[in-house]
Amino acid sequence: MNRITYTSIVKDDNPSLRLKSAVLNLPLQKKYIALAKRMLRYVKDSRDDEKAQKYDLKPAVGLAAPQVGVNVQIIVVVVDDEDGNFIEYCLANPKIISHSVQKTALSLGEGCLSVEVEHQGLVHRSARIKVRAFDVLTNEMVEFRADGYLAVVLQHEIDHLNGVLFYDHINLSDPWKVEENTLIIE
Ligand SMILES: [Zn+2]
Repeated sequence: MNRITYTSIVKDDNPSLRLKSAVLNLPLQKKYIALAKRMLRYVKDSRDDEKAQKYDLKPAVGLAAPQVGVNVQIIVVVVDDEDGNFIEYCLANPKIISHSVQKTALSLGEGCLSVEVEHQGLVHRSARIKVRAFDVLTNEMVEFRADGYLAVVLQHEIDHLNGVLFYDHINLSDPWKVEENTLIIE
């Protein structure tokens, strides 16, 4: 199984990142299960300094299939939440089925493996979301709620499936302006 490397990640000068990704038929074909697992391996290994160095992995907390050149609805997310819990998701066809009115944003803005130029500014997202998806690791449909940092990362990755990049959400005339009813995550 060949590894995904940082060099092989599709960058934002490639118009394919702006396409909508295809919904996958279930049960997932083997090649898509294998793809999802390669993506998960990238993100997990990228958290390990030694492996990151050895295998050309820039640290990441998530990845979407269009970023590895396949326009299908698969995302992976690996984060430590505010309580220090290790959380990993490997999802097909993720859909946000409801979201809070309250917004949230990371105080320092966001970054992306596909974006090499720095784009400064707040990225406002829903503070809480409910997601429905096919869980590749357990092979079943799941529904779960997410808030805080996890919700931000999930929304960033799901955006990729719709051809949306984080800087599309930055208010260019006032990039650091906090919108009403927004929780800032430090
Ligand atoms: Zn991204």
